[in-house]
Amino acid sequence: MRDIGIDLGTANILIYLKGEGIVLNEPSVVAIDSDSNEILAVGKEANDMLGRTPGKVKAIRPLKDGVIADFEYTEAMLNNFLKKIKGRRFLSKPRVLICCPSNVTSVEKNAIKEAASRIGAKKVYVEEEPKVAAVGAGMDISKPSGNMVIDIGGGTTDIAVLSLGGIVNSASLKVAGNAFDDAIIDYVKEKHKLLIGERTAEDIKLNIGTVYHGDDAQKMEIKGRDISKGLPYTVEITEKEIETALYPLAIKIIKKAKKVLEDTPPELSADIVDKGIVLTGGGSMLNGLASLFEDELKVPVYNADSPLTSVAEGCGILLSNINLMDKN
Ligand code: ADP
Ligand code: MG
Repeated sequence: MRDIGIDLGTANILIYLKGEGIVLNEPSVVAIDSDSNEILAVGKEANDMLGRTPGKVKAIRPLKDGVIADFEYTEAMLNNFLKKIKGRRFLSKPRVLICCPSNVTSVEKNAIKEAASRIGAKKVYVEEEPKVAAVGAGMDISKPSGNMVIDIGGGTTDIAVLSLGGIVNSASLKVAGNAFDDAIIDYVKEKHKLLIGERTAEDIKLNIGTVYHGDDAQKMEIKGRDISKGLPYTVEITEKEIETALYPLAIKIIKKAKKVLEDTPPELSADIVDKGIVLTGGGSMLNGLASLFEDELKVPVYNADSPLTSVAEGCGILLSNINLMDKN
């Protein structure tokens, strides 16, 4: 029996196999034929079709915004990924730990459990992402002491204060990686009269994305379509400009984090002031986030060592300590 951990993220799905580590890491994208609704591809293969799809091929993100927008496709995608692993290894009646976005309803949680049972799981645990992310980022949440984690993913940012193995206080907002990309698209359209796609926007973010102390001299050439003439066009954009586009979103996350801190019992807040806040999730890799958070929240802020894999690693740790898991 091999235990499996699944990070059901809005942007990426990771599968952790006990004894082996992360065995799958693919974007949570499904490509479908819009006439027949038939699934054409999932994961990396489907992602390559995003924005470049001919008429009847549609690429969708079934977990967009941190809710299971489309359950059927989510399940099909999961099945497809698990089959990939099954093909390589013998798995019989594993225990499965699934981490789902924090906005998922209890109805959806049960549906996820049923889906996992259908693929042969002996026991299914569903955990909320921020808890598992905190564990994976190396925090010891088992003690009666406050810990704060901010997980900035693709669709949502989850903010949580944890103590004694559970979430004491939390909040979630739909401002994360995808919103950063959208803000870049809007900025470039507004300021440079240039239309760019999601891919280009993410590229810009990864290259010169920042929210604090952006440099005027850091530049990038971007290609898109001129709004008025409709023709391909190239412009140069600076890091400082991207900061202008992204800063307001970072402030939204900070405001929410302030609110969570305000609603936290004083003893736990004192622990957080001592230990600091840990940022994780792919979106937290944006330059300047940690220092901006630190200056605004007046608390030390640290970046997790591997923000894209915290949840999957946390699954591994929890699977070895089943007593740390939710008893439901
Ligand atoms: P989820 O848990 O929702 O699946 P992830 O934690 O996998 O999300 O993070 C995905 C997000 O991280 C995407 O929006 C992606 O653009 C963003 N991202 C990945 N690497 C970086 C980076 N170096 N800088 C900024 N954002 C990044
Ligand atoms: Mg995540």
